[in-house]
Parts: sequence; C-alpha cells; structure tokens
Amino acid sequence: ASRRRASILIPPEKRKCIGVMTSGGDAQGMNGAVRAVVRSSIARGCRVFGIHEGYEGLLHPELIKEMDWISVRGWLSVGGTSIGTARCKDFYERPGRLIAARNLVKAGIDALIVIGGDGSLTGADKFRSEWPGLLSELVEKGELTEAETAPVQHLNIVGMVGSIDNDMAMTDATIGCYSSLQRICEAVDNIDSTALSHQRAFVIEVMGRHCGWLALMAGVSTGADFVFIPEKPFKDNWQEKMKEIIMKHRSLGKRKTIVIVAEGAHDESLNKITPEHVKTLLSNDLKLDTRITTLGHVQRGGLPSAYDRMLATLQGVEAVQAVLDATPETPSPVISITENKICRQPLMDAVAATQSVAVAIKNKDFDKAMSLRDAEFAEYNRIYLMTTNIDSPELRLPEDKRLRIGIIHVGAPAGGMNSATRAAVAYCLARGHKPVALHNGFPGLCRHHGDKPLGSVRDFDWLEVEGWANQGGSEIGTNRGLPSEDMNTTATCFEKYKIQALFLIGGFEAFTALSELRHAREKYAAFRIPMILLPATISNNVPGSEYSLGSDTCLNALIQYCDAIRQSASASRRRVFVVETQGGKSGYVATLAGLCVGAVCVYTPEEGIDHKMMYRDLEYLVREFSKDKGQNRAGKLILRNEQASDTYTTEVIANMIRTAAKGRFEARHVVPGHVQQGGAPSPMDRVRAVRLAVKCIQHLETFAGKSEAHLMAEMTSAAVIGIKGASVAVTGMEHLEKYETDWKDRRPKNEFWIAMKPTVDMLSGRPLAEDTC
Ligand code: ATP
Repeated sequence: ASRRRASILIPPEKRKCIGVMTSGGDAQGMNGAVRAVVRSSIARGCRVFGIHEGYEGLLHPELIKEMDWISVRGWLSVGGTSIGTARCKDFYERPGRLIAARNLVKAGIDALIVIGGDGSLTGADKFRSEWPGLLSELVEKGELTEAETAPVQHLNIVGMVGSIDNDMAMTDATIGCYSSLQRICEAVDNIDSTALSHQRAFVIEVMGRHCGWLALMAGVSTGADFVFIPEKPFKDNWQEKMKEIIMKHRSLGKRKTIVIVAEGAHDESLNKITPEHVKTLLSNDLKLDTRITTLGHVQRGGLPSAYDRMLATLQGVEAVQAVLDATPETPSPVISITENKICRQPLMDAVAATQSVAVAIKNKDFDKAMSLRDAEFAEYNRIYLMTTNIDSPELRLPEDKRLRIGIIHVGAPAGGMNSATRAAVAYCLARGHKPVALHNGFPGLCRHHGDKPLGSVRDFDWLEVEGWANQGGSEIGTNRGLPSEDMNTTATCFEKYKIQALFLIGGFEAFTALSELRHAREKYAAFRIPMILLPATISNNVPGSEYSLGSDTCLNALIQYCDAIRQSASASRRRVFVVETQGGKSGYVATLAGLCVGAVCVYTPEEGIDHKMMYRDLEYLVREFSKDKGQNRAGKLILRNEQASDTYTTEVIANMIRTAAKGRFEARHVVPGHVQQGGAPSPMDRVRAVRLAVKCIQHLETFAGKSEAHLMAEMTSAAVIGIKGASVAVTGMEHLEKYETDWKDRRPKNEFWIAMKPTVDMLSGRPLAEDTC
C-alpha cells in the first residue's frame, strides 16, 4: 500500500483487478512492459496478476499469480519474458476459453493486458467479445454463481505489441524490434571487418516471414548493398538488378559486399529467394568469394535496448490508463507509437490491417502490402534505394536544379553524424548535386594560410563515405567554433568555394551558428542560400526537435554502464551508486536513462535540488534498504545531471547518503564522462540519420533555381528538421529563435520529456512532496 501514489490514486469503486501476460514469440522489452504495468497498476491502487506462460496460464489457476512491487525489480534490464510465454492450442477453441473465463472470474480479474503479436491480440479480442456468453454458460453449468460473475460483467482488453519483427500495422515500432535490429547490426558490423579483409561477399538472412522491417532497417543502418523484403520484390529481373548494383559498387572500389535477405523474401511470382540462391549468383556470375550467415535466434536474444525499455515502460503506463478509461462500449485498444508519440489505436483495426499485408502479398498486390505498412516504412525503402542505387538516370536532376552543398559538423561528436553525412552524400551524388566537405567546423572553414583564407574544403567522393554507416564520431571533423568568430572570412569562404546550400549537423552550437548566419544574411550575400540543421547531440537540447542524433546512442551507452555498476551494487547488496550524466542544462539524458534503468531518483537542472527534496530522498533510501531482505536485496542507482545543482554535487549527494546510512549501506559516486558518446552509433540513430539527412537535402533542393527574394521571404530557408510529436517537421529558425529557445540555459523552452518525469518517479516509488505515504 505504501507504493500507492496520492496524486494519481483512483477511487476504490473504480479500481480494477488487472491480469498481464506475454504471449506468442518473446521479445526484448516484454519484461519492462510487465514491470510498468505492475508498478503503475499498484501506484493507481489496482491489484495486478501475472498470467504465466501466455494463454496456457489462463487455463491453469496455479499460473495466475498476484504480483507486488518488488516482484518486478530489475526487470527492465532482463531480456525475454520472465513470466514466460507459450503458444496455446486450447485457447483457439471455445472450450479452452471457457476454462480461461472461469479462472479469471475466480481470481476476480476484470481487465487483461496482453503483450504479444497479432495472433495473441486476435485471441484476446475474441475472448472479450465472447465474454458475456462464456459467463452465462459457466453460470448455467453451475461452475460459477451469479454473485461471482456480477462484479466482472465486462472484460477490458488492452493490447501491447511485443514482436521483434515490427510487423504490426498502425504503429511505427513494436516492443523488441530495435533490440533485435541492434543484434543484427552488431553481427553485420562484426562481419564487415572480415569481409573487408578478404574482399568477400556475405549473404545474411534475418527474421521476418511477412515483414521486411528488420531486413530493410538492417540494410539502411549497415549500408548493405542489396536487401530483399517480402512486401516489395524487385520488378522484372531481380538477378540482373542485384548484380548491376553490386558490380557498380565494386567498380567504384568497394572491397566488400553485404546482401540482406528477409526469411520471407520472394520474387514477384512468389518464388522464394533463398540465401543459397543469392550466393550462387554472386559466386558464379560475379566471381565473389561468398559466405552465408543465418542469424536465427540470436535476434531474439540479449538485453533490451534503451528505446525498447522506454517504449515498453511508457506503453505499459498508457495501457493501465487505457484499462481505467475503458467502458463496456469502447473497442479494445492497442497501444502504439507514431514517431515520438504514444497513442491508442482500435485493436481489431490494427490486427486486420496487419493480417491483410500477408493476404496482399499472397495476391501479389505488393503496392497494397507496402501501403498497409506505416508510411515511414515505405519512405525508408525509397530512401534506401536512392542512396544505394547511385547510378540511376531517373533520379538525376536537370543541371539547373543541381546545387553545390556544403556539409559541416558543429559542436561535440554524436552518434549518427557520419551516417547522416554518408546518406546525404550518396543522395546528392544520385541527384547530381556536388556535396562538399567543410572539415573541422567553422574554424576549419576559416583556416588561413598567411593572409589568405584557405578553408579545409574538399569535394566528397562516394567511396570515401561508403564505410561510414556504422562509424561513431565525426569523420570530417567537428568543432565548437562559431561563424561569429570570423564572419568576414566565413562569408569569403562561402563565396570562394561556391557554396549554394548548407547542411549543418550538430547540437546547440550548430543551432547558434545557423542563427548567426541567418542574421548575417542582411550584410553578407554569401549567406543568402538555403540552410538546414539536422540536430545531433547527446544532450538532445536543440529547439525544433524532440530527438537529436546521438541521443539514443548515448542512452544505450549509459544504460550499459549503469547495468554493469548496478550488477556490482547488487552483488554487494548494500550499495547506492550516484551516477553523473552529461546534458548541460538539459535533464533529458538523466531522465530517460533513469526511465531505462529504473533509477530510484533522477536529478535534473529543470527541477533543481533543494534540502526538502534531499531529505525526502534520504529518508526513502533508508526506508528502502531497511525493507530489502534476502533475495530481494538489490543495488540502487541515482542519476544526477551534471548541472542539476551547484550545492548538491554528485559527490556531496553520495556523502550525504553515506552519512544517513550510518553504516547500514554504502554510497559511491561515478562519472562516466565521455563514455556517454558511445562507440558505434545505435541502429535508431543510424536509420534516423539516413532518413532525416535525405529529407534535409530534399528540403534544400526545393530552393534550387529560386530567386534571392523568394529565399529571403521563405521562413524555412534557414531551418531545423526535427521530430515533433507524431510527425517530422521543418521549422524556420526565426520562429524557433523567437518562441522556442531558452538561450540562457541552451535548451528548448518546452521540453517534451518533462512530462515523463512523473512516470520515472512513479515507477521507482520515489516519494514526491505531495505524497504523504
Ligand atoms: P508472433 O508475432 O511471435 O507470432 P503472435 O501473438 O502472433 O506472436 P501466435 O502464435 O499467432 O503468436 O499466437 C499466440 C497465441 O495466441 C496462440 O498460441 C493462441 O493461444 C492465441 N491465439 C492466436 N490466435 C488466436 C485466435 N484466432 N483465437 C484464439 N486464440 C488465438
């Protein structure tokens, strides 16, 4: 009861008794979803039962077990599903569902949250629609009494999609798909070095019977030469097309070849395309030394990525809210995500759309199959083809529409900067633009040789960037220097190198640089060109976007670090680690990492730290450790942003905890520092880098051949691309500077993630000022 949260506790008559289960194939992040459901149910005042082994658990009362707060401790960092999953034949039939209904009523459960694929969700909805009939039959047969069924007249069903394939319609991502993609990327990155050494070709088979998401995204994020997906087989002679593209890449000097084949790949006539088939073509016709790697169940394994932990957690909380909002009339919802926004969709519509993809494929209606997937998927496919097929005459723009586009990195390195640059260059070359590398930021551009400006400027070539898809850091060099340090030389260099459009990649410094260039347009004609910024910073503090490249890589690096130290803390059982995170004056990294690792407290600059908060937290820790017994003892993590408070530094907090602990437990402070920039960029940063970079160049293209007057009048001629809620938006700098930027604290005025902070606190059980428990 102490975990119930005063501010969100619901009145007793509205409380539900919720069952949660995982069903179908397992996926990383399912445990995080169960944890979120369990803890938010308890915080709201509801009882919650874990139904073990999927629908099998509904048929066996001993597999329906009440869960408490502690029972899901540490689950965020555990792969697979700890309550088990199974395929249950009996549940397909009404007699099986009759037994399930009886067991649920006996347990008093009136709402079911099912985490699984389309099959599991179909089963759940069928169960709900039959529910009144099942209860009547059970009463008639004397297995239940009227009194027993009266309180559970309606069964609420809420679906969450747990599936590594990302095969559910009406959601951008399913729980597990990005962790699975991470496994694939790790494998392909590892294969890369041996392929390069021996100039080999590798054919890699990935999962996906009716869904090519994993294969396509693996292709986008690893820079594979060719990808086969079930929804969109190549028209006509795919063998020749594949050979042509691979030979083109080889003729440009590429030493390795990677072809990715989805399990369900086939040609237009539905003849299966197997890795062996592809290998034969590469070996016999192209004389490439070719090997096959089938990744198999490795793709289901390993720890959940930061994104899956976040998705699972936020969706789990939303699922409980959906249960509480449900009425007998509302259709069952499934919790989804569009870009960055958690939403609800009608469950059966999503299931029907998902199942119709398989039907469309069977009917060889591939355009329909593509259209039934989310719009983002089709866009990724187009972009992948455009950035791979660089020699395609139909993509080439007429001469007067082509631009010399400067590409510059500004600020600290962030994962995805290179992937974005690679994609932009490949797209530019395909369209006939001239991509130009401006090395080492603005100071590099303004480099002098004697009196003469001699910028570090060079035309890109395809081969140079080809291997950058999985490279961390910044290959063209990045620098924090701003154009205002030498505006004259900056303008001179723009003229000297004939820069007709500018693509900036970077964080708040890049934002400031773009603002300076826009203001300098009045004085310098050289800056009257289209300019766009793709935010890239681990701090994720650029106005105009809820997401910056590199922030996902950072969270993944940080959760790995935190998982490791928590393990050490748990081994000694009596230790708190206070971890200092980067982020400048933005608490994004601390808060999201806190959400992903289940930190007991998160300190941010936005909220600050005062003595009352500190006192409450110390009391809470002492209370928690006094309750920890036996197997349930665990180490604890506190995350503190580097600028959360001048007084309560990371070390001071650790010292205060130590004093309060009076020897009953220990506290240490740690500073992971630049570890947070991560090594290889995460798959999410890679794929978003590709998509957003191409969109940036497409935006610059719209200004080609337009007058200066048009450019100056168009608000988005200096703009930031970003993800805002459920969409990708290009926002003009003038608007952002005036209305959306907190210049003093170098962050957006309204940070979207602030709304997540109460969730972090709720799920850790941390008491708030308004809680009296
Ligand atoms: P995955 O994406 O991993 O295949 P899934 O949820 O689609 O996940 P299924 O094997 O189709 O996996 O379904 C899991 C379980 O859900 C089944 O074993 C069965 O118990 C139940 N189920 C599936 N479809 C139905 C249905 N039409 N009616 C009743 N129960 C069903």
